[in-house]
Amino acid sequence: MYAPQGVKTSKDFPVPDMQKAWVLGEPGQLIFKEKPVPVPGKAEVLVRIDAVAICATDLEVIYHGPPALIEGGLPFNKNWTPGHEYMGTVAALGPGVDEYKIGDRITVEIHAGCGQCKRCREGMYTSCHNYGMNYGDMNKGHRANGFTTDGGFCEYAVNNINTMVHVSDEMSDEEATLVVTAGTAMYGLTELGGLIAGESVVVTGPGPIGLLGVGVAKAMGASPVILTGTRDNRLEIGRKLGADHVINIRKEDPVDAVRKILGGKGADYVLECSAAPNGLNEAARMVNRGGKVCLAAFPHGEVPVDVAHLVRNNIYLFGIRGEGKSATHRAQAFMEQKRFDARLIHTHTFELKDLPEAIRYAKERVDDAIKVVVRMPSAVAQKKMAAE
Ligand SMILES: [Zn+2]
Ligand SMILES: [Zn+2]
Repeated sequence: MYAPQGVKTSKDFPVPDMQKAWVLGEPGQLIFKEKPVPVPGKAEVLVRIDAVAICATDLEVIYHGPPALIEGGLPFNKNWTPGHEYMGTVAALGPGVDEYKIGDRITVEIHAGCGQCKRCREGMYTSCHNYGMNYGDMNKGHRANGFTTDGGFCEYAVNNINTMVHVSDEMSDEEATLVVTAGTAMYGLTELGGLIAGESVVVTGPGPIGLLGVGVAKAMGASPVILTGTRDNRLEIGRKLGADHVINIRKEDPVDAVRKILGGKGADYVLECSAAPNGLNEAARMVNRGGKVCLAAFPHGEVPVDVAHLVRNNIYLFGIRGEGKSATHRAQAFMEQKRFDARLIHTHTFELKDLPEAIRYAKERVDDAIKVVVRMPSAVAQKKMAAE
């Protein structure tokens, strides 16, 4: 039985020595195998994963590699487990941990950072200067589960206590996996200054971050909130999440439409979540003079940018990585208070053993999949028992 030295376990919460885990082989190849259950160190806990959502960045990592960085290089054939948007139950405590108890329900954010570099000290742990430095002589303790350390497409993971948030019992496992996505939108709006109550916000691109960006902006008091996209059914979900106006860019020019809604003036803020090659140029034309644009998505290649327009109009440009400055805690608070319904973006559920099929749904947007969630066999069994 699992009883590593210095680790606190509980009779009521038996942990096996081995677990089922997916590991990345060649690009695009996932292998289901047995792996040892990892051991938490100082300031860490062992999490029994109950559900994990699939993110577009998982697809990047599985098929192309970056931004995953394992032992200083590409993540292929390193017995490494991807997946980063998970939630679960605390199963064991590392030495000295009293911030959480065994049995606590939690959801996670990704980046623990190294905790010692300049950016980590500023709360910008998603921009840690020691990204991926967690091996050999260069071990600075950096963790970004599912990017630089083992992630959540498995049954058990180790998490730094600073990467966890308690979730209320009222929130379902599936909804709890979405907290980190809402946290990314929250971080974007935090970096834009956060004081958006009564100010106009445009969100471009109704993917998961864009849609929850609408919910978070609305919860923070932004008015009006405008969402642009190409598909009416997604825009309709945006409306349910609080968008005051939606613009289908296949039917009308989004810059003209935004300016018309705002009396010709342009928006105070744009949260760019489309990753369209012309996304930044359009955002810069939607925003008013002195306005702010946050880039939360990125195109695959280099794109031409109208720099003169940015300079002449004093437009502020922010890039964000992940969910820094404890944004996940604030997003969870909004969700717990039911300020927006993140469940609207959860479309499909699979079991862990069917991960490749779940990934196909996410990748090919089968059946208009938005957020595909994978559940663990133990959690599925528990739910069945509770229902009976
Ligand atoms: Zn993600
Ligand atoms: Zn750091």
